[in-house]
Amino acid sequence: MPIDLHRARAETPGCDHVIHLNNAGAALMPAAVLHAVTAHLHREARLGGYEAAREAADQQAAAYTCAARVLGCAPDEIAFTDSATRAFDTALWALPLGAGDRIAVSRVCYGSNALALLELKRRVGVRVVVLPSVPDGAVDLDALEAALREGLAAVALTHIPTNSGLIQPAAEVGALARAHGVPYLLDACQSFGQLQLDVEALGCDVLTATSRKYMRGPRGQGVLYVRRALLERLHPPMPDLGSARWTDPDTFTWVDGARRLECWEHSVASRLGFAAAMEVALGFGLDAIEARVLELGAQARARLAAVDGVTVQDPGPRRCGIVTFTKRGVAPAHLQAALAERRIHTSVADAPGALLDMRARGLDAVVRASVHYYNTLDELDQLAEAVAQIP
Ligand SMILES: *Cc1c(COP(=O)(O)O)cnc(C)c1O
Repeated sequence: MPIDLHRARAETPGCDHVIHLNNAGAALMPAAVLHAVTAHLHREARLGGYEAAREAADQQAAAYTCAARVLGCAPDEIAFTDSATRAFDTALWALPLGAGDRIAVSRVCYGSNALALLELKRRVGVRVVVLPSVPDGAVDLDALEAALREGLAAVALTHIPTNSGLIQPAAEVGALARAHGVPYLLDACQSFGQLQLDVEALGCDVLTATSRKYMRGPRGQGVLYVRRALLERLHPPMPDLGSARWTDPDTFTWVDGARRLECWEHSVASRLGFAAAMEVALGFGLDAIEARVLELGAQARARLAAVDGVTVQDPGPRRCGIVTFTKRGVAPAHLQAALAERRIHTSVADAPGALLDMRARGLDAVVRASVHYYNTLDELDQLAEAVAQIP
């Protein structure tokens, strides 16, 4: 069923105030999310934090079921974290890696993930293999296959980068990694809540994502999926009294499932908000969301490309709701700020977010307009008009 736009906007308080095209940064929360967060904060104020958490035990358990429905996995393969970066780091540092082990990434590897790999290289001596891209921008699958044949300890792919509308062939990468029995970590931070995801179809062993972007949840929440078969081979880097049982002075055991990767302390209110956001997405249907976001992305590109001096900077045969562009003679930061003055929210993707890709394409920064299903064609017209006007 197509998205009920009227309902989507009526249930999004921010739509009355701004043209929000920064959904790859943090989307506008639906009213149901706001309510879930504030209701729990009120409960904490009334009862105390532990007592409030006990009252919300069923709702918290439902959050795992909800994430499992979004990703097509089992609830015990889900861990919650406080960001996508923490989710990725937790999985990466838990892999049994040693000196000389090779980890393959693509050119659009997210900055924070690259930093974690560089630190792992410094400390453990792993080697980072940067796979080339084919001319349309996607990761070169032949190069991946060759690297797998030479021997890889892991493949870490960014599904949709922070700095362009490219959609990587994540399932094709998964099929190759699986054929070689190599763990596959998928950074789905920008695709989660934007595209329909299924960990079986994607073939990933680890998937990481965040609450605040396309899923429209509150800040400070992330999610980590770990395939059951991989879990037993992991060494979680930071045990605590929630993830482990200390029953013997000299040793301990892990709790069952992916929760061994969690931190015990967390914002219960924020997590309930995250669960509410996933409920909203499942309610609209991720297939319907994907269809509308991709269509609006294409509409935004067409409008911007028609503006004098504008270059749309999105590579790829498949492109998503992230639309990046530059305007001749106008600095991206200036353009973004001038749009913000008109209450049109975009962001700037600069080089450190995806340094390898930005260097390869000779870009310092691009303006990023990221559309969501609650945006309208009229809003896209206003974006293009404003971009045309801004000197
Ligand atoms: C934003 C982003 C992240 C990091 O998400 P956090 O929740 O801020 O840690 C990771 N990968 C990609 C591709 C991103 O765009």
